[in-house]
Amino acid sequence: MSASKGKIIIAGGGIGGVSAAMGLANKGYKVTVLEQAPEFGEIGAGIQIGPNAFHAMDYLGVGDAGRSKAVYIDKLILMDGKTGDEVSHIDIGEPFRERFKNPYAVIHRADLHSVFLDACRAHENVELVNNVVVTGYENTPNGAKVLTESGDVYEGDAVLGGDGVRSKIREQMTGGDELKLSGHVAYRAVLQLDQMPEDLRWNAVGLWAAKKCHMVHYPLQGWKTFNLVATFETDIDNVGVNEPGTKEEILSRFGELVPRARKLLEVPDNWRRWVLADRDPIDNWVDGNVALIGDAAHATHQYFAQGACMAMEDSVMLAHQLEKHDGDFAAAFADYQAARIPRAYRVVLSSREIGKHVYHPTGAHRLVRNAVLGAKTQEQYRESLAWLYGGTGLDEVDLNAVNQR
Ligand SMILES: Cc1cc2nc3c(=O)[nH]c(=O)nc-3n(C[C@H](O)[C@H](O)[C@H](O)COP(=O)(O)OP(=O)(O)OC[C@H]3O[C@@H](n4cnc5c(N)ncnc54)[C@H](O)[C@@H]3O)c2cc1C
Repeated sequence: MSASKGKIIIAGGGIGGVSAAMGLANKGYKVTVLEQAPEFGEIGAGIQIGPNAFHAMDYLGVGDAGRSKAVYIDKLILMDGKTGDEVSHIDIGEPFRERFKNPYAVIHRADLHSVFLDACRAHENVELVNNVVVTGYENTPNGAKVLTESGDVYEGDAVLGGDGVRSKIREQMTGGDELKLSGHVAYRAVLQLDQMPEDLRWNAVGLWAAKKCHMVHYPLQGWKTFNLVATFETDIDNVGVNEPGTKEEILSRFGELVPRARKLLEVPDNWRRWVLADRDPIDNWVDGNVALIGDAAHATHQYFAQGACMAMEDSVMLAHQLEKHDGDFAAAFADYQAARIPRAYRVVLSSREIGKHVYHPTGAHRLVRNAVLGAKTQEQYRESLAWLYGGTGLDEVDLNAVNQR
């Protein structure tokens, strides 16, 4: 499939941008990805990916490469950070894999991103351009243009806004809808295996939930490192991202956490700090020949660990709709958003809820959580997650039809 069907410009080279580039290039489109950073890349931290993400990676032609970099954990464990007791766990072994036809895994972000980046670099239809700060777009009679800070203009048959939670493309499309600060701050660090206390070296995602805070850890990179994320609630009105954080601040926020877990927060010397935000759902992601993807469309809290998975699903659905409508962008974008809006926003809205009810409850609310989740069977867990991991939102798509160029 080498004859070009049209040209698409993508603003932003995160997981959303590079996965969309692969999906569209595989369908015969010429794609240019514009990234503001001097290099394409991801931050040094881990990410969890559900079975739906593996379905998406398979469709996008990078499933095997993604599988080779992932760590296959056994369980997702919820610990009561106040008592140190296990509340509940989800077994993600064989019955789970059988149910959803793919594993649940964890992976270093740079590894996941580079799987797509390598595939883009090897694809004759993809052009990757750095140091381009996108400022907006313009629809044209036959397509759309991306406008940039330098004054350069990139013109194609269509434009995708994959420029993240602070998207310039979305800002123009919506007239500037509000960024919703969650009041939650996440600290991230990656530890070497020997820095990880032996009794916490679990082949699992371990989640310790305490008063207005929680901590998550899991192995990465073939068990050479461990990912650590510690999140707390606070009154904060700025939107700092990837700033240096202090051990003093993080320790002062985890007063209720049992010493066995709290000692982990004393280990990292290099914490990075993010003020977390999402956006309220909107019912339109399209303006003429321009459409939104990834966080630009549906920025979410991390509580379902699904933001990047949703971005990969967007890429599948876009590629599928463009193929189905044979390059009719208006029809393809209309069906793309009709399929994606309800599913992606179910994740966004549910993430807000589980943030409150599972991750940070206190007092009687915490006891209710422990009783409800502690009583759930593995089968009940699998069924309650089936809409997310089994439904995939790609039902219309033949997931086995990996379209190689
Ligand atoms: C603490 C935390 C934990 C998370 N854990 C998970 C998890 O376990 N699983 C999961 O699936 N998701 C998780 N997520 C969500 C996930 O990180 C995001 O949903 C995902 O990275 C979004 O990808 P994106 O490509 O849409 O946006 P981004 O990753 O933000 O990429 C946007 C890209 O656009 C570029 N850009 C921005 N503005 C411009 C501009 N004006 N011009 C040019 N380029 C521009 C940026 O430099 C960036 O490269 C987590 C998020 C957080 C905060």
